[in-house]
Order: sequence, then structure tokens, then C-alpha cells
Amino acid sequence: MPPDAADRPDAQSSTFIGSAPRGTADLLDTLRAVVGRRHLLTGEKATRIFRHGFRFGSGPVLAVVQPGSLVEQWRVLRACVEAGVIVIAQAANTGLTGGSTPDGIYDRPVVIVSTRRLAGIHLIHDGRQAVCLPGATLNQLEAKLRPLGREPHSVIGSSCIGASVIGGICNNSGGALVRRGPAYTELALYARVDETGRLALVNHLGISLGNEPEAMLARLESGAFAPADVDPAEGRAASDTHYAEHVRAVDASTPARFNADAARLFEASGSAGKIMLFAVRLDSFAKDGATRVFYIGTNDPAELTALRRAILSGFRTLPVAGEYMHRDCFDMAARYGKDTYLAIRRLGTDRLPWLFAAKARIDALPFVSAHFSDRLLQWLADRLPDHLPERLLRYRDRFEHHLMLRMPDAGIEEARAWLERHFPSASGDFFECSEAEGEAAFLHRFAAAGAAVRYRAVHPKEVEDIVALDIALPRNCEAWTEQLPEAIERPILHKLYYGHFLCHVFHQDYIVAKGTDCVALEHAMLPLLDARGAEYPAEHNVGHLYEAKPALRDHYAALDPCNMFNPGIGKTSREARR
Ligand SMILES: Cc1cc2nc3c(=O)[nH]c(=O)nc-3n(C[C@H](O)[C@H](O)[C@H](O)COP(=O)(O)OP(=O)(O)OC[C@H]3O[C@@H](n4cnc5c(N)ncnc54)[C@H](O)[C@@H]3O)c2cc1C
Repeated sequence: MPPDAADRPDAQSSTFIGSAPRGTADLLDTLRAVVGRRHLLTGEKATRIFRHGFRFGSGPVLAVVQPGSLVEQWRVLRACVEAGVIVIAQAANTGLTGGSTPDGIYDRPVVIVSTRRLAGIHLIHDGRQAVCLPGATLNQLEAKLRPLGREPHSVIGSSCIGASVIGGICNNSGGALVRRGPAYTELALYARVDETGRLALVNHLGISLGNEPEAMLARLESGAFAPADVDPAEGRAASDTHYAEHVRAVDASTPARFNADAARLFEASGSAGKIMLFAVRLDSFAKDGATRVFYIGTNDPAELTALRRAILSGFRTLPVAGEYMHRDCFDMAARYGKDTYLAIRRLGTDRLPWLFAAKARIDALPFVSAHFSDRLLQWLADRLPDHLPERLLRYRDRFEHHLMLRMPDAGIEEARAWLERHFPSASGDFFECSEAEGEAAFLHRFAAAGAAVRYRAVHPKEVEDIVALDIALPRNCEAWTEQLPEAIERPILHKLYYGHFLCHVFHQDYIVAKGTDCVALEHAMLPLLDARGAEYPAEHNVGHLYEAKPALRDHYAALDPCNMFNPGIGKTSREARR
């Protein structure tokens, strides 16, 4: 959806886009004056962790700049616009498709604006909504809401490694929560460059902040606004309010959620870095009381299909989460996700972002070989005793397909009764987890997300690369397991299937043998997905891996007519348009 600038007053700025890149030395001087020498990075090593994606994508940059306030962020952007360079906004850089890093070579110099220093959260309406600044993480939001008995909209696999709230909005990120759908809001404060090249600050946050950009940003950051300045913003969504109904429609021939869904594209939502965001306003949700995890194993996928359809169309209470893992993925996560599992168990999620940052710093040291930290951690993990509960391991031996179902208080009895009526069967069974087993099951499922990356890091001679697909199957799809033709299957060493089963969103990581053309392999797989009515990507967004479908392309073009923000995303044009 194009930005609707007509209904509310926007602050304007007279900065116009430079017609050609100005002397880059001048730009670097200006940026240095804005953020200070320490926060302007230009060296190969210093910029490395910002230039490389978590799983995919990299490219050279002129600089990485780390503003320390919203006003600095605005000044940085203004200088970049004046200089005519490309701007790539980056939050925690946990994106999996290369959408937050450069990818190869561009027609103009690239500046990454890293927002990690800009953590800040203001709760409004007694914590029923939150205003999050660009560096605020889901983890910080969770901690801030916890004393109020509330929780954020999203829980994603990367929440515990520091994924930001705003990165989630930009990617329409999904995650494990069945009732809430993709990250979405219509309330945001952002800057865009219009078709004439003029920079403007657009206040669609529903909070009166004034008209002069720097004063507005300073006011927002310090929280200097009164309840009377906050518009109730009725009629403008701060979450995907219809998702719970939508996901229940198990006879619908379209997927429940996917990145190119036009209904979930609105200004900041799904913007993938095509504007510069300063804040978003989001709903929070009452925390569930007691929950209970049921662990289901089967050798017949039709049993999980029947369970999914029964839950979504018949249960009075929707589950909190319903996560799937194939046995091969279980095994991969048990070995190559073991240290992640143990680190979270021992240290808690709050310290994990710090650990990941330390790991990246070690790998950036000049005397350290590639993937040193991964190899060391794997060596240690392999020497530690088994970490998974006995009952999970027994189910691993008995069953190929695994589903962990977390029910909220009101739905526990309903789920128990259904499962007791249908299991044990000839091919499946279930058990009710203790609290420790339930936590272990979900943590193990989380560890699966990084297992393929670890495998690639420690087996460089054997592995060419990972082909990672993130797909959404139609809600009425019953044949959700995949049969690959022999020619495609041949070069694949390992297949990891896992995902958000009730939403029918699957992550399929293929570890591919050395010497294979992975791009060609992926291209051969896509028509098979098309034939099944799948949409892709489902929740990781296009980045530089997938082609953006028309709704996404239109969204990007409307937000960024000059193509100065994150150009080339979704395999769109990389060239300046003016
Ligand atoms: C282990 C692991 C598990 C994961 N699990 C899930 C999952 O369960 N579900 C899911 O959906 N995703 C998952 N992801 C993917 C990723 O974590 C999400 O896409 C996440 O929302 C990205 O947040 P981020 O802060 O890292 O954003 P980044 O990766 O830094 O940025 C994401 C996008 O937002 C843009 N952006 C960032 N800040 C701004 C700004 N201030 N202004 C404008 N644009 C901006 C960037 O340009 C980029 O296009 C996982 C990733 C990992 C590594």
C-alpha cells in the first residue's frame, strides 16, 4: 500500500537527493562530525560483521555508521541523501535472506546505518501498546512488559539472539505464535525520499510531536509527550487483528501468511529497508497463565493433518504454538544446535545476544581462521553428555514426525481429550510434557534454526552451501510432506524440515554437496512449490534470495521512488531512479 501522506501533517525537510555521489571524503567527515569517530567504521575488519548476513549476503561498503540518538540518525540520513549514496538500514542483522546487508556491487557507494545503539521503549495506554525505537529488541520489550503481565506480539526464533522489533515489522516476521500472525502495524514514524528527491519525516505514529523534524525526534526519544498527545488511533491497526480467524480457515486455498500478502503491506510493515524508520507503535498482549505442552509423534503425516484441521476448525481455544520437526532435523539440532541449547538453558536468553556478539568479535580477529568459534564450540559440544530429556529421545527413535503443541490454560482439557480419543494409534502416540520437558522440546526446536549453518561451518570440504526455503502452504493443503525428484535429491546431503505447523509455514534447509550449483538447484525446486500452491518466502522476507512478487515490488516502488534505500532487494533494479 502506498504511503498515505494526505491525511496527517508530515514534517518536511528541504534536503534533496544528490544527483551524483559527492566526494565520499566529505560525506565521511560529515558523518564523523555527527556520530563521533568511534561510531563511524570504515575498515575491512571493523565493518565485517555488519557487511555479512547471518546466513547469506555480503558486499563492500563505504562506511557503517552507528548513530547514538534519533536526531543523529536523522542527520546521518540527511547527509547520505545530500551525497546521493545508498542507505541500508540495519538493526540486529539476524535476517536470513541477506536483506539487511549489501549484496555484491552497486552503482553508488553504500552506507549501512546500524541502529543497535538506539534501544528505547515507551509504554503507552498502561502498557497495552508500546512505542519502540529502531534498536529496541523483542527481548527488551518482553522484559519491559513482563511486570505488567503482558507480552510482545511476536516470539521468533531469533528473539533470544537480539532480533529487533523494527526488523520484525520491516520483514513482516512471523514466528511461533498461532493466534497473532505476522508482525504488523499501521502506526510508524519514518523518513522517506519522494519522487522529487526531497527528504521528509512522516509522522503516522498517532502521537503529536510538533512539526520540526529534530525537535520531534528529540521529544519522542526522551518520552516528552503527554497522554493527551497520544491519539487512540482507533481504526489504525497496531497488530494483525484478524489473524486468529484467518488461520482457522482450513478449507481456504491460500496460505495463512506470507511476505507478499498485499493485506499485510502498509508503509513500515513489509518495507524491507525501503524507508528509514525511527519508531513503531505496537499492541501488546495479556500473558497466558499456565500452559501445557503435548508432544505428539507419528509415522503417518495424515495424523498430524487431522490434528491440525481439528484444532483450527473445531477447538474453542487456539494453541499458543504448534511447532513441527522431522526426525532428521531432530538429529541435526541434537548435535549441531546442542551448544545453543545449553547456552540458553544455563545462561538464559538475556545473555545470548552478548554471547553472539562476542563470538562475532572473536571471528573478526586478524589471526583467527574462518569459523574458528563454530569449530571450537562444536568440538566442546560433541564432548558433553546428551542434553535432551529421555522421553523426547525415545520418541525420536519411534517416530519420524514430531509436533509440540503448547496450549493455554483454557484449552488444555480440550486438547487432552482430543489426543486421548485418537492416540495411541497404529502409527502415533503422545505424552504430556512436564514443565522441563516442554521447555526442552521448544528449545530444541529453536536450536534447529541454526543447525544447518553450523554444519556448513564445520564441514567446509563436504558442503557447497545451504539452500534454505521458507514456504507457506495453502491452508487447505493436506500433502505437506515433500517428495523430490531423484535428480534434485541426489546432491542433497541432509534435509532439515521444521516449522510453524498450524500456520502451515515450513522451513526447509537443504545441505548441499560440494561442487553443486546451489542457485540452479534452488531454481529447480521453485516450480515444484508453485505447483503445490505454496507462497515463498513465508516470513523471512525476500532479501536478495527471492524475487519479490508484484505486490511487494509495488510497495517498494511506492515507498522509495528514487531507489536510494536498500536497492536490489527482492531482485528488483539496483539503479538510481531520477
Ligand atoms: C536463529 C534464527 C531464528 C529465526 N527465527 C525466525 C522466526 O521464527 N520467524 C521469523 O519470521 N524470522 C526468523 N528469523 C529471521 C530474522 O530474525 C527476522 O527477520 C527478524 O525480524 C530480523 O530482525 P533484525 O533486528 O535482525 O533486523 P535486520 O535483519 O537487521 O533487518 C531486517 C530488515 O529491516 C530493515 N530495517 C532494520 N532497521 C530499520 C530501520 N530503522 N529503518 C528501516 N528499515 C530497517 C533492514 O533493512 C532489513 O531489510 C530468524 C533468524 C535467525 C538467525
